[in-house]
Amino acid sequence: MHPIHVIGGGLAGSEAAWQAAEAGVPVVLHEMRPARMTAAHRTNHLAELVCSNSFRSDDASTNAVGVLHREMRALGSIVIKAADAHQVPAGGALAVDRDGFSQAVEKAVLSHPLITLERGEIAGLPPEAWESVIIATGPLTSPGLAEAVASLTGEGALAFFDAIAPIVHRDSIDMDVAWMQSRYDKEGPGGDAAAYVNCPMSRDRYEAFVDALIAAEKTEFREFEGTPYFDGCLPIEVMAERGRETLRHGPMKPVGLTNAHAPAVKPYAVVQLRQDNALGTMFNIVGFQTKLKYGEQGRIFRMIPGLENAEFARLGGIHRNTYLNSPRLLDTRLRLKAQPRLRFAGQITGCEGYVESAAVGLIAGRLAAAERLGIAVTTPPPTTAIGALLNHITGGHIESIDAGPRSFQPMNVNFGLFPPIVEPRVDDAGKRLRGPERGVARKRALSARAEADLAGWLDGAGRELTMGGTHGSFAPAFRILRTV
Ligand SMILES: Cc1cc2nc3c(=O)[nH]c(=O)nc-3n(C[C@H](O)[C@H](O)[C@H](O)COP(=O)(O)OP(=O)(O)OC[C@H]3O[C@@H](n4cnc5c(N)ncnc54)[C@H](O)[C@@H]3O)c2cc1C
Repeated sequence: MHPIHVIGGGLAGSEAAWQAAEAGVPVVLHEMRPARMTAAHRTNHLAELVCSNSFRSDDASTNAVGVLHREMRALGSIVIKAADAHQVPAGGALAVDRDGFSQAVEKAVLSHPLITLERGEIAGLPPEAWESVIIATGPLTSPGLAEAVASLTGEGALAFFDAIAPIVHRDSIDMDVAWMQSRYDKEGPGGDAAAYVNCPMSRDRYEAFVDALIAAEKTEFREFEGTPYFDGCLPIEVMAERGRETLRHGPMKPVGLTNAHAPAVKPYAVVQLRQDNALGTMFNIVGFQTKLKYGEQGRIFRMIPGLENAEFARLGGIHRNTYLNSPRLLDTRLRLKAQPRLRFAGQITGCEGYVESAAVGLIAGRLAAAERLGIAVTTPPPTTAIGALLNHITGGHIESIDAGPRSFQPMNVNFGLFPPIVEPRVDDAGKRLRGPERGVARKRALSARAEADLAGWLDGAGRELTMGGTHGSFAPAFRILRTV
């Protein structure tokens, strides 16, 4: 059987190689280090953690990344297995001894009889003879390959920096203050003239907001990142520093909008939020890409009328980050529509974080293996964490007509990516739940549904993709189970 070529031996590539090999398919894993290093990696080990040593919360009952850990354990993830084996104390988080962790992943991958490691950079498009390729070269993909992918996918389809505006859970916005309206009631392609959430600001509130932005603590760019500011994508705090009126003439301009709660009062400035996912559970703050420190973002953005109790699905940031406009370019199985032999995995697909990158590697490895074995398979349902992440990358994000080329931005897994659930109103004892308790109950319900649906998927149509075990026992399971 022709092998699957996995390019990049980071979190996603190591996991993809492991999963495909466990399914019984030979893999050649290509890693350019140490011959060519990235600006962030320091060792020649596979699955190196380039910064923090944390895989974040391990709480599967109320935290979406904890749910993802649980699912990856159930799916035989080598990354989570190595993390579990090299844990260091970190309260409720799964943190690891970084060297022990990456050496454990490397040892497992290198000792797998179906995986061959080839050290060396793939500096352009993979050779035509490679029929099945997983590109998992991460946020710091080498320039030769990045340029080749960029020319294959077309202008603007591959970004080299993210410019992330904060995303707010829709149900945490106070709609007694905010209102729905599109500027000048302009209809979108779907005929909706009230697509945006609008938060009005008086002059005093605006002045206080600008002062807070100017005084706030900011994060610095790393040396290798340079200063990637370009027109149309300035951080809001930089706009505020350029002049007190700049924001009011930019993303916070109050024109073409009438406050539905006080039509006679003209707002001095308006903050707009745009729907971010097809489910309508998340809204991004338009034009609010930022380098403010995370703590400052929570404090300052809650100064916006209507967002006093906002819960953030993601905070803003700007980083060096190579990633595709995946919802447009990839099919639901992570294959490049223009050249389906090329599949993508990890951060380059527009997920964010160690765990998410490994999770997308996991599913890419399984999908590639199933394809090699000639089996049609289903993907995990979007009610699971891994399915929700896959859905975000391949289609869940919506791009509005005026969103600009950078509408799709990298995203950590979070409950906002999951289809909504009917919120529990009472606890198990029948007692009525209050505000914060309801939020916790909702997360528990989403987690329980994810657990049940992953189990259902394991038992049903997805099972051929989900067998654990070793390479020896995996392949027959592909053949005997029902295909979809
Ligand atoms: C500076 C920085 C700090 C980060 N900090 C965190 C953090 O603290 N926590 C967190 O959760 N996430 C963090 N991230 C985000 C992200 O989770 C990690 O970058 C993660 O490692 C991504 O996994 P990956 O497998 O997609 O890419 P990587 O782990 O980067 O793996 C990609 C691999 O591909 C190799 N490669 C690249 N180009 C080629 C080529 N042409 N040929 C062959 N091999 C190639 C690289 O050497 C690398 O080994 C950070 C990202 C950056 C850039």
